[in-house]
Amino acid sequence: MTKEIKQRKQKNDKLIRQEKKITELKSSLVYYKEITETIRQPFVILDGDLQVVTANPAFYRKFKVLKKDTEGRRMYELGDNQWDTPELREFLERVLPKKKKLNDYEITLDLPSLGRKTMLLSARQVDSKQLILLALEDVTERRTLKLNSEIMTKNLIYQREKLQGISDTKDEFIALASHQLRTPATIVKQYVNMLAEGYAGELPQGQEDMLTVVSDSNERQLEIIEDLLRVARADAGKVNLSKTSRDLSKEVETAIDSLKSIFKERGQTVLFDKPKEQMTALVDSKLMFMVLENMLDNASKYSPKDTKVTVKIEQNDGDIIISFKDKGVGIRKKDQAKLFKKFSRVHNSLSDSVKGTGLGLYWVKKIIDLHGGGIEVSSTQGGGSTFIVKVPAGV
Ligand code: ADP
Repeated sequence: MTKEIKQRKQKNDKLIRQEKKITELKSSLVYYKEITETIRQPFVILDGDLQVVTANPAFYRKFKVLKKDTEGRRMYELGDNQWDTPELREFLERVLPKKKKLNDYEITLDLPSLGRKTMLLSARQVDSKQLILLALEDVTERRTLKLNSEIMTKNLIYQREKLQGISDTKDEFIALASHQLRTPATIVKQYVNMLAEGYAGELPQGQEDMLTVVSDSNERQLEIIEDLLRVARADAGKVNLSKTSRDLSKEVETAIDSLKSIFKERGQTVLFDKPKEQMTALVDSKLMFMVLENMLDNASKYSPKDTKVTVKIEQNDGDIIISFKDKGVGIRKKDQAKLFKKFSRVHNSLSDSVKGTGLGLYWVKKIIDLHGGGIEVSSTQGGGSTFIVKVPAGV
């Protein structure tokens, strides 16, 4: 073969190879184009010189450009050069050639026709870098929503802290005011007692009656102050439990005994079937005793005269469960969630005539929670109530 024939053959082979390559490219282009048409996200195919080979309908719709002004143009020239931004150049000319394949690369473009847009670009260089497949996802709204929700969250946290601050100030005020009120109220009690005992001479009947009213009101005042101080201590986290192992059925028995005069006065009876076995739990006995008294006092207060209160204690699944069942006025379902909130007195047919601050159950729940237990109620209006106090069993 002469040199000339050899050269011609080589040229011919090269041409055939190029033609084959072009045919291959064309067929992959048709293939990509067909897929692209079905994608709802804007999608564009660029050639090695960053000229648009084709774009899908979503691209034209989204970026408000026409097919005839897009195909064959460099990506940067689209929409009167609005795509010509340093960020897009950086992405297409430096980042993508290095990585070949990129997902969710975020850029922000100021597109005069559409405004400021934040977009996630996902791209692939295919067919030996001769084509770039580029998907664009507009996440502007998502980012704005995220930003808004972050701002809202910050605002809510700020408001919550502000409210917490107000609530703390209120708690401090109540604690301070109650503390300041306790001393004069205690002095009144001492002097009333002295007068009643005749230290200032014998009192005529009329004055004695008046003194009884003063004494009752003073007792009530001191009770309220003690309630407020007790709750303030619990709210300030100043309750330190001093736990010892106690037989809770004995504690129940003693609490019933200590309130026996109250029940007797109202003609009420308490049924307590003390179990033979011990109901041992690790508790702060002083606080637990006050809890039991509170529960019994409520059962009596919110029940009519001559009714029965039944107290039960049992051990179940590692808990000591004490129930207080009364045949009293009961509580409407919708009021039951309020019972354990601070200062929540629920109105019922007896609440006007019985005294209360709406702090008892709030404090009881705090103390039971501190013991790792819980308190529940089941009740119907007019059908009586059952309060159940649970504390972990153990020695
Ligand atoms: P107080 O008795 O001082 O009002 P509590 O916190 O002890 O406060 O109780 C809150 C409210 O729950 C009471 O006002 C009352 O309406 C209701 N309540 C509590 N115990 C009972 C009960 N055994 N039966 C019916 N209502 C009750």
